[in-house]
Order: sequence, then C-alpha cells, then structure tokens
Amino acid sequence: MNCEQARPLLAAYVDGELDTVRMLEMEGHLPACPACTRAVRELQQLQQSLRQESLYHPAPAALRRNVLAELSAQARPEPKPAFWSWFRLVPALSGAMVVCLAALLAVTLNRPSGHEQLTAEIVSSHIRSLMANHALDVVSTDQHTVKPWFNGRVDFAPPVKDLAAQGFPLIGGRLDYLHHRTVAALVFQRNKHIINVFLWPGSEKNSAPSLDSVRQGFNLIHWNQGGMTCWAISDLNPTELLEFTRDFAL
Ligand SMILES: [Zn+2]
Repeated sequence: MNCEQARPLLAAYVDGELDTVRMLEMEGHLPACPACTRAVRELQQLQQSLRQESLYHPAPAALRRNVLAELSAQARPEPKPAFWSWFRLVPALSGAMVVCLAALLAVTLNRPSGHEQLTAEIVSSHIRSLMANHALDVVSTDQHTVKPWFNGRVDFAPPVKDLAAQGFPLIGGRLDYLHHRTVAALVFQRNKHIINVFLWPGSEKNSAPSLDSVRQGFNLIHWNQGGMTCWAISDLNPTELLEFTRDFAL
C-alpha cells in the first residue's frame, strides 16, 4: 500500500472500520510513512476530543416527546377513506363476477348430457379396444366359455350368444368401465370389422335395436332386453350392424 492508497482510508482506519486485509496493509504502511502516521495521530486526537463529556448535552424532554410522537404517527398505517376503498373494490369485484358467470356459462353450455357423455364413453372404449390390444380378456369363440367367465367378475349374467351361423362369430369378451360402472363387453367380428356389445343391468322396458347415433365414423345401436341396457358399436355399415343386433336380441 502506498500513500495515495492509504490517505482515503485513514479515517476509516482510526474508526476501526477497515476490513482485515486493508487493516494489515495499513499497519504495514504506517511505520514506514511519517506523513500518514502524523495524520493518524491527528485523527485520533480529534476523536478523543469529540468524546469529551463537556460536548454532550441531554435533549430537552419536550424535544424527546415530539420526536417520539412523530415516530409513532408515522408507524401507524394511514387510514384510507372508505369511499376510496369501495371505489377500488367495485370494478375488481364486478370483474371477478363477470369471470365467474362466464366460467359457469361455459361449463353449463359445454356440459354433455348424460346421453352424449355415455355415447362418447362408448366410442372411447371401442377405440381403446381396437388400439391397445385390449379387445379381449377372455378369448374364445365358445359362448359356453365366455358366459361363465363373467361369473364373479360382474354382478349380473350377460346374455352371450354365438352368431357365427349368421356371419358374426363371437371372438371373446372383457370387462369395461362405462357410465360409472363395470360393464360386460362382448366382441364379435364381421369380416375385418370388430363389433363391441356393451351390456349392463338397466331398468328400461324391452326395446328393439335402433340406430342411436353416428360418432367419429362409428355406428351406435341401442336397445334394451331382459333388464339389460345394450349398446353395439362398430365401423360396420348400419344395415349389417342392425341385422347383427336383431339377431343378438332374439
Ligand atoms: Zn503514507
């Protein structure tokens, strides 16, 4: 450290405010530099004289009171006029209400009806069964194998028929999940077309199979038989699919 670097740091050195490295550098410089040593001594004398008691006077009680009062006033949160708060709140609230109403409306408008939701689920299940190699839990063309397979797996006995003679061979069955319940799915084939028949207990009276809807290129046929709700779905043309379901419902 040379004089030029030491000068600006002398006061801080006297006050003990230098970091350790600077302090050591300063202590290395001072013994070799009479000018800085003199400056340090003068600063130390000034420091000593400023500590004399005669220079200190207690503050008057009134000044102390005023300062304390001022401090506590500033520490208190400034109360906002009520109308100002409401003025700010009203647009915020009505904005929130508009958002809520819009959301409610969107949910209401977009909410699928029970029927819409069911047919959408049927289509999803059918597509899943075609894609995921999950068409069959029990692989059999024998209705006497497929029907007992459901025993203990569902709490009802699905009607299982082999319609091979009519050109719709049974290829197996599986469990599926539709409309918040486990259902039986029977799988039939017509040439390259897979037909899924979903069955579960229902309370509706018997009704003849009829084309319910066409969704995503799949034909959905619905009917009720023997206390069962039945749905068939396939990409098979509606005429042949109806023929199939009529044979099944017999
Ligand atoms: Zn020096």
